[in-house]
Amino acid sequence: MVDAHGVTLTPGLIDSHVHPVVGDYTPRQQQLHWIDSTLHGGVTTMISAGEVHMPGRPRDVVGLKAMAIAAQRWYENFRPSGMKVHAGAPVLEEGMVEDDFKEMAEAGVKLLGEVGLGTVKDGKTARQMVEWARKYGIQSTIHTGGTSIPGSGLIDADMVLETDADVIGHVNGGHSALPDDQIVCLCENCSRGLEIVHNGNGRAALLALNTARELGQLERVILGTDGPAGSGVQPLGILRMVAMLSSLGDVPAEVAFCFATGNTARQRALDTGLLEVGQAADFVLMDQAQHAPGKDILESVRLGNLPGIGMTIIDGKPRSGRSRNTPPARRLPEVVSGPG
Ligand SMILES: [Zn+2]
Repeated sequence: MVDAHGVTLTPGLIDSHVHPVVGDYTPRQQQLHWIDSTLHGGVTTMISAGEVHMPGRPRDVVGLKAMAIAAQRWYENFRPSGMKVHAGAPVLEEGMVEDDFKEMAEAGVKLLGEVGLGTVKDGKTARQMVEWARKYGIQSTIHTGGTSIPGSGLIDADMVLETDADVIGHVNGGHSALPDDQIVCLCENCSRGLEIVHNGNGRAALLALNTARELGQLERVILGTDGPAGSGVQPLGILRMVAMLSSLGDVPAEVAFCFATGNTARQRALDTGLLEVGQAADFVLMDQAQHAPGKDILESVRLGNLPGIGMTIIDGKPRSGRSRNTPPARRLPEVVSGPG
């Protein structure tokens, strides 16, 4: 039992786009405990867009299937600091056939890594593989925009539309965005998820947001960090996206929080991200930050300030107390009794 002391309750935030490797370690920036730090930023669920930073990542079909299945298992069996990490997201490589997707799905793989990070770089092949994945219940996402690291490539609007993955991964680029007309084209010419990431282009993020709003389709907007990345790990990345889109994109704070909770949950068919009976008990208790301007937490976020996080709860268990990463909250919740 928790006495919230009047602070705000939200669903646990969801990072729709991360690149985990193993446990709470990332070789990308040689960091330990980046997932624990992200929990302190209010995120309770992470979705892998591919374990692409694994040193020596196998590119052959047998090897990539084995790693995908193993990665799904090692994050299912071990939740760093309680974080729910949906991982085991293989990157498409040439030579994969329908049976490979069937085999992985039967073994528990539910996601594809970003299409375009492997050797499959043409829309026709990618679309065929995405359709096979979908047939067996595996969700797909596609890298959108310029090259991220050596070995990746440009994925333009034509290829994104031809591939027709479930989520248009980092529609604002990761790092480099597509030209404005192509971003607008993607928003207008399909109904797939529009993922905006911290590791992308901020101006392009606002363009995608404004286009989605003009189309009356804000429910398509979901948020990710794309971390760990060249830009580092971003423990407060999702909160910073919420504050940035709310303040510069002129969206009410409570709507911007939906981009990082219910929108993602619905698009990705998760049992979290909504405060409803029957959903997982994944919560964040947060309050206006000390000395941050605004008459309340919503106005403070809309002015571009981060909230202060006082507690995270995953599956009904408190997992972290006062955040070591956000500015301190004005008021803090308190555990008043435990089970039994
Ligand atoms: Zn990418």
